[in-house]
Amino acid sequence: MGKVIGFKNPTATLESLGIKNTNTEYWNLTPEELIEETIKRGQGVLNSTGALAVDTGEFTGRSPKDKFIVKDDYTADVIDWGGFNTPLEPAVFDKLYAKTVAYFEGRDVFVRDSYACAHDQYRTNVRVVTEFPWANMFAGNMFLRPEQSELASITPDWLVLQAPGLHADGAADGVRQHNFSIINFTKKIALIGGSAYTGEIKKGIFTVLNMVLPHEHKVLAMHCSANVGKEGDVALFFGLSGTGKTTLSADPNRPLIGDDEHGWTNDAVFNFEGGCYAKCIDLSAEKEPDIFAAIKHGAILENIGFVEGTREVDYKAMPRTENTRVSYPLNHIQNALPKSVAGEPKNIFFLTYDAFGVLPPISRLTIGQAMYYFLSGFTSKVAGTEVGVTEPQTTFSACFGAAFLPLHPTKYAELLGGKLQSNPLIKVWLLNTGFSGGPYGVGKRMSLPHTRALITSALTGKLNEVNYEVHPIFSLHFPTVCEGVPAEVLNPRNTWSSPETYDIKAAELAKAIHNNFKKFEDKASDEVKAAAPKVLAEA
Ligand code: ATP
Ligand code: MN
Repeated sequence: MGKVIGFKNPTATLESLGIKNTNTEYWNLTPEELIEETIKRGQGVLNSTGALAVDTGEFTGRSPKDKFIVKDDYTADVIDWGGFNTPLEPAVFDKLYAKTVAYFEGRDVFVRDSYACAHDQYRTNVRVVTEFPWANMFAGNMFLRPEQSELASITPDWLVLQAPGLHADGAADGVRQHNFSIINFTKKIALIGGSAYTGEIKKGIFTVLNMVLPHEHKVLAMHCSANVGKEGDVALFFGLSGTGKTTLSADPNRPLIGDDEHGWTNDAVFNFEGGCYAKCIDLSAEKEPDIFAAIKHGAILENIGFVEGTREVDYKAMPRTENTRVSYPLNHIQNALPKSVAGEPKNIFFLTYDAFGVLPPISRLTIGQAMYYFLSGFTSKVAGTEVGVTEPQTTFSACFGAAFLPLHPTKYAELLGGKLQSNPLIKVWLLNTGFSGGPYGVGKRMSLPHTRALITSALTGKLNEVNYEVHPIFSLHFPTVCEGVPAEVLNPRNTWSSPETYDIKAAELAKAIHNNFKKFEDKASDEVKAAAPKVLAEA
């Protein structure tokens, strides 16, 4: 056994995991100690506000094509195979597991005991074993942190092994290339190799919970942020990457429950995590004061650039990727809820980044529409900076998180539908946080203060007292007035210089949404199907 530093359950060993002859084992170090170990190894520096800045190496984002789920008796008939869920033989997993533990031999290893799910009934202990100190600190930031006294007797439910320096032999090892992220539900292990991108750790456990909670406990697992008002009224914000979950849930008047992953039981909403993982690109103290202030000692910045010759972060810079990030524990947000559990939602927002500039800034959805847009998960990815690419790229991500859903999307939709049916007071809103005044290239991004004003009026009930218009193609109900937002912004057709061009683009989007939904049609009720946008016969 290697030398042991830190604090652990005396019965816990790495040998029991097959990890032998390590150099030093560092168990449950404090953030200060992990920062020291990171700097000592030349793997990070401190910025001007005391946050640790690291470089995640080859990978600066998740690699969905290299994500696998072990196909065995437990998963074979349950997982929605294909798409984002690629099957892997148990024997292939066993071989890569053996390679991973062998890789740790002779090396320093960092172990962290943490847990997921703030709701006592669903608490899931996770032991995270990493090659790098800062990845261990990331796990400490993002998962929930046990009390020091609990550590002496803690036992893990799940194990995460992360070895970025281990490169698989691609096809010879039964995977696609040198990096892999494998979930084994039977052995309760998430195995990560070849990539140091921390998001693989976070979203690996998210994928686990997206299976276990709905499948075994009938708890709806959701890719959403959540906050709660003074009267205990909970709001959820669903959306794909970059649509505004983290930004819009940070609200000085509404304590934060969490910024990305939640569960919804019969009577409660709870956070899976104990931290936030915010985008940094173009961050400013003026636009996003809460997030800006959270970037201090204890936070970890990833792949950011500095103002030359200083340790001041240049938030406009993207030296390696546009996906510059920061992780920090939830308590870095000043008005975060101390225990991330609250009651049932009163308002649900679907955030869509509509690069067509077609959808209204806010619409109120019927239950049928809510189900339709939940299953559709429409959003757009703006084309990169490649020469000549100016058209938006439409994407559909079922339940606003298809990449993390082991079960078929209809399983999550059924759970959501049941909740909406049994509680008709829950309001569901569709927000367009994408373009206004024209498509990408012509219009501009919806103003953040306007989006915030729309949300505030929805939450305070003011939008229940105004007149609504019905969109002729999408049948969406949108308000005609809202405090803090110019009336002409509310109807997207008014914001385009040519209303006729708007109509053409709207028909195009309607057709795309319609075509995407075909795969759900045989499983959808008449009420849901009736929520489809109108498509011209010849379109
Ligand atoms: P991820 O799942 O990757 O964490 P996210 O949904 O949490 O993504 P955010 O981190 O909130 O997304 O990113 C939204 C980005 O868009 C922020 O940088 C924010 O400043 C910017 N933004 C600009 N205009 C708006 C708007 N009207 N509404 C929301 N966000 C906006
Ligand atoms: Mn986020």
